Amino acid sequence: MATDVIGKTATARIYKNLIDGDWVEATTGETFENINPADTRDVVGVFQKSGKADVEAAVEAARRAFEKWRLVPAPRRAEIIYRAAQMLIERKEDYARDMTREMGKVLKETRGDVQEAIDTGFYMAGEGRRMFGATVPSELPNKFAMAVRHPVGVCAMITPWNFPMAIPSWKLFPAIVAGNCCVIKPAQDTPLSVFNFVQTLLDAGVPKGVVNIVSGFGSRIGAPLTEHPEIRAVSLTGSSDVGRIVGESCARSFKRCSLELGGKNPMIVLDDANLELALEGGLWGGFGTTGQRCTATSRIIVQKGVYHEFVGEFVERARKLKVGNGLDETVEMGPAINKAQLETDLSYIEIGKSEGAKLLCGGHRLDSGPYQYGWFLEPTVFSDVDPKMRIAQEEIFGPVVSIIPCDHLEHAIEIANGVPYGLSSAIYTRDVNRAFKAMRDLFAGITYINAPTIGAEVHLPFGGTKATGNGHREGGFGAIEFYTEWKSVYVDYSDRLQKAQIDRPE
Ligand code: NAD
Repeated sequence: MATDVIGKTATARIYKNLIDGDWVEATTGETFENINPADTRDVVGVFQKSGKADVEAAVEAARRAFEKWRLVPAPRRAEIIYRAAQMLIERKEDYARDMTREMGKVLKETRGDVQEAIDTGFYMAGEGRRMFGATVPSELPNKFAMAVRHPVGVCAMITPWNFPMAIPSWKLFPAIVAGNCCVIKPAQDTPLSVFNFVQTLLDAGVPKGVVNIVSGFGSRIGAPLTEHPEIRAVSLTGSSDVGRIVGESCARSFKRCSLELGGKNPMIVLDDANLELALEGGLWGGFGTTGQRCTATSRIIVQKGVYHEFVGEFVERARKLKVGNGLDETVEMGPAINKAQLETDLSYIEIGKSEGAKLLCGGHRLDSGPYQYGWFLEPTVFSDVDPKMRIAQEEIFGPVVSIIPCDHLEHAIEIANGVPYGLSSAIYTRDVNRAFKAMRDLFAGITYINAPTIGAEVHLPFGGTKATGNGHREGGFGAIEFYTEWKSVYVDYSDRLQKAQIDRPE
């Protein structure tokens, strides 16, 4: 599978595309480097920069494999998935280390990322013996009616870099247990984790052609994938801007399309909250994964009675967070994923200052000493943020938290809902009545009570409202819904022509 070449600091391995069970070079002859964002001298691997012809070969392989895979009984398909999940347990530590190296988040979190793939594997293996359909009574005598699930066909998966194994597993496991065949395009910043994941699928016994990998840039191979007539479903997790492009492309050819996009997630802290819990949750939600989660706690809406106390303590603790290379177990926050993201973070910090928000801590790039070769930023907190400011409205995707004062619960909910996104939301209160009102009135796909906006479990539907997506859900039973087509089947055992709606038995 791999050849060795001399990288910048060490020997970097060349990874090829996976098409029809073979590891092959891209027809373009081009490659790109996967760089460690904590130390840009470290080349994690060299990957294929694929073109349209590579996409076409992968889709053709998936189409051929589908003819056989769809006929394998689902419980047999599930056994392979179960085996893959077990193998991931054995490989968890190695894969977590590879992931930290390729995308920077701390080891504790990359172990969690692999664990999410393991959990999804076990859940989806169970689906192989469920995948419930429906039987219903027929309106005619001696007639049987049921609805069964069929695979959709060839599916394309386009994934982001922030959950490099968990998100591909959310897509690939349910797709293949349902009998589909797949072409996955990993994010260009984190292809290695997808290669590791798919290698495990192969080792567990997934037949050739069922899963194919085409690595490269969305700007070049995104359109060939989404426009390909043999692809029947596209699942994208990424930014809302790319979601719009993919959604429009799929609509033109009537493809099923699942979009999981951005967020601007609010955490409400009411006067009666357990403040210690809220502080801990806010720090974890705001600065975990360097703020680069679609569910990151990027806005904290605090009721006036506890505002000053909360802000003072939050800033104190944010300042003390240890930033560094995620491979160091004592580090709490890693680097930004790349230079462009760091520049975006810094530009939003300037926007926040110019809008009149109070910069209470952070705001600067860290680039000396141990930080000199990475894309590090200080944990940054703005207070006295107006809900209409750009830093309170737009997804920054960095370690920048905006704290917004509010008067009461209804005011907090109005602020929380007043953004273009609706992914996750949270409220800290000890009043059950107010908690239930928030559960009802926060217009988002996920609401946490007394926990921050991050921390979804794999067996519940995951996704959001408004610009966060197009109504589909990943995770648990929501995913099976996306990767299967309903077929209604009528079996008439009356031995005569019976006309529905017309022959009405007395
Ligand atoms: P991105 O939109 O830049 O890229 C996502 C994927 O789309 C990548 O694989 C990229 O190569 C591909 N792509 C880019 N242009 C394309 C095109 N024209 N056609 C088809 N594909 C194209 O996002 P990112 O920077 O990788 O990830 C961060 C974004 O993802 C954030 O907005 C974040 O909120 C979102 N996200 C959402 C969820 C969710 O479940 N809602 C989860 C994680 C991340």
